[in-house]
Amino acid sequence: MKKFDYIIVGGGCAGLSLAYELEINNKLNSKTLAIIEPRAEYKRDKTWSFWKVINHNFDDCIIKNWNNFSINSPSGSQELKTESFPYQSIDSGLYYRKINTLLSKNKNIQFFKNINEIDTNNSFIFNSVPESALDKTKLWQHFQGVEIEVEKDIFDDEIINLMDFNCDQRNSVHFFYTLPFTKNKALIETTWLSRFDDDKLKDYDSQIEKYIEETLGIQKYKINFKERGAIPLFYPSSTKKLNKINIGSAGGMTRLSTGYTFLNIQEHSKYIRENIDNIIGAKNYTIGKKYEFLDNIFLRVLEKYPERMPNIYLKMFKSKTSAVIKFLSNKSNILEDILIILKMPQKWIFVKAIFKK
Ligand SMILES: Cc1cc2nc3c(=O)[nH]c(=O)nc-3n(C[C@H](O)[C@H](O)[C@H](O)COP(=O)(O)OP(=O)(O)OC[C@H]3O[C@@H](n4cnc5c(N)ncnc54)[C@H](O)[C@@H]3O)c2cc1C
Repeated sequence: MKKFDYIIVGGGCAGLSLAYELEINNKLNSKTLAIIEPRAEYKRDKTWSFWKVINHNFDDCIIKNWNNFSINSPSGSQELKTESFPYQSIDSGLYYRKINTLLSKNKNIQFFKNINEIDTNNSFIFNSVPESALDKTKLWQHFQGVEIEVEKDIFDDEIINLMDFNCDQRNSVHFFYTLPFTKNKALIETTWLSRFDDDKLKDYDSQIEKYIEETLGIQKYKINFKERGAIPLFYPSSTKKLNKINIGSAGGMTRLSTGYTFLNIQEHSKYIRENIDNIIGAKNYTIGKKYEFLDNIFLRVLEKYPERMPNIYLKMFKSKTSAVIKFLSNKSNILEDILIILKMPQKWIFVKAIFKK
């Protein structure tokens, strides 16, 4: 069986981002890489969106940039400008094509469907597959989105609606998210923050249909694309091994309070590339203990007081917009953290949550 210097388990977002980062920086000229990916074909399956707080390799896969966003809750609405950090959406189909086209030119890189097809002795492994089943009784962000197209130009494509809490909450946290890609095309998502074992919340099709028809007032539309996802809002367990690093969601790259993962994956890939020549000795990369601590408090409040969350999010965005974006994208300094913490309503529930599990 064939041996490789490096093995990437899972050719999804983290696996391919890492392979691409290594390839464009000439780290695979004299090293071999096996990518283990069971999927039969690559096609658009997700839309990755985020505030662009750092540069990344995929500007040419962007569907659209926005400089304005809004939040709606029963207690009020807010429109915000974000000129220094545009909100971007990446088309995963374009992303897979761009990376796979480049990787196919290097004979040192090979794809396999199963890790049993290769000799793993003496390889360094980058693993993006959870090592054990994830606990569905914990908190998850689960959602479904549809890209709809309408005949007339009805969307304002200059502004996204980040969170619309004016919908059925069912004792959980629920909002709609609307990304207008053009004046007649938009991605509309129903998003829940809840335990994942509650099937009563998963009637996504009818939730979206109702929102499109009753809230957006759209009766005639066609669906171009559908995506469904579930992001664990806790870190998956992992075993330490000298010759293995976990990457992607399995490697703790999800920001627990938001589900944002894409840019963290890009930063982790860069860190691995910078340290690849001494990868065994490299320090463990994390999003940061500060954010883990603050997010855990936030999520404890969310679990205990779901009904207060629309107002809490609205109040959070009353801080300076760039500070909130930096905070949510793990780029804030201590002054910005304090600014946001001070804006939180009912601070005692957060203080109580520090001490309670
Ligand atoms: C629908 C959806 C939308 C999302 N939107 C956003 C967003 O807007 N912004 C954001 O920041 N984050 C978003 N996320 C979160 C996160 O960015 C993505 O989940 C991202 O794809 C995580 O990358 P990953 O490599 O960890 O996992 P994946 O991209 O899921 O890659 C894992 C790969 O492993 C493969 N695999 C599975 N089993 C095995 C096995 N046994 N052996 C080998 N390979 C295996 C899978 O086929 C897959 O290709 C979204 C997630 C989903 C599901």
